[in-house]
This record gives sequence, C-alpha cells and structure tokens, in this order.
Amino acid sequence: MIKRDIFSPSDDRFRLHVAAFLDSEIAPHYSVWESTGRIPRDAWLKAGAAGLLCRTAPALHGGHDAPFTEAVVIAEELAKRRFAGFLTFLQSDIVAPYFLKLATDSQKQAYIPDLCSGAKLGAIAMTEQQSGSEIQYMKTAFTRRADGFSISGEKKHISNGFSADVILVAARRANLPSGGDPQLSLLIVDGGTPGLSREPIPKSGMRALDTSKIVLDNCIVGDDKLLGAEGRGLFYLLTFLGLERLMLAIYAQASATAILQELVTFCTERKTSTGCLLDYQTNYCRLADLYAECSVNQSFIDACIIAQARGKHDPKASSLAKLRATETLKSIAVLAVQLRGAQGISDGMGARVTQDVVDSCVQSIWGGASETLRDAIGRSLVNSI
Ligand SMILES: Cc1cc2nc3c(=O)[nH]c(=O)nc-3n(C[C@H](O)[C@H](O)[C@H](O)COP(=O)(O)OP(=O)(O)OC[C@H]3O[C@@H](n4cnc5c(N)ncnc54)[C@H](O)[C@@H]3O)c2cc1C
Repeated sequence: MIKRDIFSPSDDRFRLHVAAFLDSEIAPHYSVWESTGRIPRDAWLKAGAAGLLCRTAPALHGGHDAPFTEAVVIAEELAKRRFAGFLTFLQSDIVAPYFLKLATDSQKQAYIPDLCSGAKLGAIAMTEQQSGSEIQYMKTAFTRRADGFSISGEKKHISNGFSADVILVAARRANLPSGGDPQLSLLIVDGGTPGLSREPIPKSGMRALDTSKIVLDNCIVGDDKLLGAEGRGLFYLLTFLGLERLMLAIYAQASATAILQELVTFCTERKTSTGCLLDYQTNYCRLADLYAECSVNQSFIDACIIAQARGKHDPKASSLAKLRATETLKSIAVLAVQLRGAQGISDGMGARVTQDVVDSCVQSIWGGASETLRDAIGRSLVNSI
C-alpha cells in the first residue's frame, strides 16, 4: 500500500504493543466470542490494563494523554484482524468523548476512570425502529420529575447494549412547559436502573459484537444524569457523529487494505494453466482500480486524522471519508469472493471472505448509511462548490 507518514516512531512502537496484545489475549478466544455474540468483561479489563482504552483521555481521568494517532493505531490493528466485536473505539473514541466534553466534574469522576480501565462498559443509544437514519425523529421520551427524569422508549441495534454499565440515551421531553424546548436531550442510564431491560439481536454480520434492543419502561434517573444542556441533544449527536464517522472510516479503510492485500496474494499464488490469476488483464485492471481508490481514500483519511489530531474537527470530511472507505471496502470484499471462484464460498477461506462481504455491508450502514451520507453531502453541494 502507499507509504504513510502520519505516524511517529512512538506510534510505531505502540502498534507493536497493540498487535502483541491482540494476538495473545484476543485472537485465541475470538471464534468462541463470535458464537456467543459477546466479548467477556475480562477482555475489556485486560485491554484497560494494557492501556488500550481511552488512549487520548487525560491522565487526570485515568487516560493516557496520548496523541490521536494512537487511537488510530488501535482501530487499524483491530480491523486487520477482523475483531469488530471487540469495538474498543466505541468505548474510547465514541462514548468517552461525550463525558470528556459535556460532563460535570462529578459525572466525570463517576464514569471516565472506569471507562478507561474497562471496569465500566459504555454504549450510546440513538437508533429506534422508525428512526435509524432519521435520528431527529426518535420517539423515546422523558418526563421531568421533582428529583430527576422518567424515561420510556425502545432503542434498537445498540452496540454493547446488553453488556453496557452506562448507556447514553437520547430522548425528548414529553411534559413540556409551554414555550419549552422540544429538542432531544442526552441522559445517562446506569446498567442496573429499574425499568431497563435488554435483549441481544441475533445477526449475521460482526458476529462477536453485542448488538441489542434496549427497553426503557419508566426508568427513573436522578437530576445528576442529564448530560450537557437540556434540549441540546441533537446538536451534540450531530457534532460527535463527526468523530464517530472518522473512526468508522479508519476502521473500514484498514479492513479494505487487509482484504485487498490478501486478495492480491491469492491471485499471485492461484495457478492457471498458463500462469496465475494476476496475469489476466481483466483481473489486474480491476485490482489496479481498487488499489487506486484505496490509496486515494487513505490519503484523504490521513488528512482527516492529522486535522483531528490538531483539534480541527470536520464532520463533513468525516462523512466523505466514511462514505468512500466503506463503499470501496464493499467492492473489494465482493471481488475477493468472485476471484476465488468456488473457493470463495467453500471451507474456512470461503467462510472468512463471505463473512467479509456481510461485515462490509454493516460498515456502510452503521454510523449513517451511505445513502444518508450521500443525501446530506448532496444537499450541501450548493454551498460547497
Ligand atoms: C452492527 C450495528 C451496530 C450498531 N450500533 C449502534 C449503536 O451503538 N447505537 C445506535 O444508536 N445505533 C447503532 N446502530 C444502528 C445504525 O446506526 C443504523 O442501523 C443506521 O443508522 C441505519 O438505520 P436503520 O438500520 O434504521 O435503517 P433505515 O433508516 O431504515 O434505512 C434503511 C436503508 O434505507 C436507505 N435510506 C435511508 N435513508 C435514506 C435517504 N435519506 N436516502 C436514500 N436512502 C435512504 C439506506 O439504504 C438505509 O440503509 C448499529 C447498527 C448496526 C448494524
């Protein structure tokens, strides 16, 4: 693949540490976790102890004060090994930033050190049956009480939803005073809150990832569980979705690179009567196109990474990166089955590469489906060009 120059020697050393951890502590168990659909808590605690959680969080709160490039290294090493179920960046770079940026001091103390150590597992619950792509229309509602909030509603497809100890729930106010703000708010719901129930959703993609339905039936939480300002939830979600989409783009890009590399190796080794599969012009031209797409995507994503590391958050660039990386990944994953012929659907190799196709479809759906990203990008064109 193209040479990248965004990583420091210290990032490179950290990459070796991450790789060694994943190979020794995660790889031996991963296929079992794919069948159970969940990662045991012990793995999270080990990851926390090895310094793999909340890398960029301040040391003051139990993090590591690390540069953003180290968060990138972790996501890339997970993707290379197809460890999507062990979605540490959900905890570190998607959930924790809400606490770091919006929480009060006592909320920070209550949650961030445990998210850093793996003692608490976090989730963010936006999606509902009728509002996956259209988060602004979610129906989960809360009523204000004298001492806090009562929340009711149903969330679907929530990563870490079954295991999470702390769930950020997006909900809108039901008993609105006249002239009040009907917008969404973010509420912290702890795992043991009465009225909270969860149910894993069986699925064919990202099989080790705990993805669950969450039901909130009059869940009562205290005043101290409002995160940020009331009524600012949609603004927060749309802002933080930028970093989420960049992390998903980084993950998809590393998946695409790994699958393309394996495919080129396969085409070189697969003998035909006159040479190997890579000798056919039809094949090397298609691979050349995908290599070009992949390389250009990488350069764009690296530019986004550098900007993010410098504190320049650009949600639109993250959407572009996610759209390009996940769509290229899907093309590569499908070709990786096709060029293997019958082997692409047979035995262990066939199982792996067909699973890659399904997993690549997950990547162009979660965090905003490609169509919704195109829709938003398309609508903004009039002001962009
Ligand atoms: C493995 C996994 C993990 C997830 N984890 C989380 C999580 O942790 N938290 C959370 O809140 N959510 C999570 N989700 C939900 C995810 O964000 C939604 O699935 C996604 O936003 C799409 O919503 P939907 O599934 O309801 O599809 P829908 O909104 O029903 O859309 C279905 C399809 O319709 C098309 N479509 C939608 N809108 C448009 C449009 N404007 N123009 C053209 N076509 C359109 C797209 O092809 C889209 O894929 C997860 C999903 C998966 C698969």
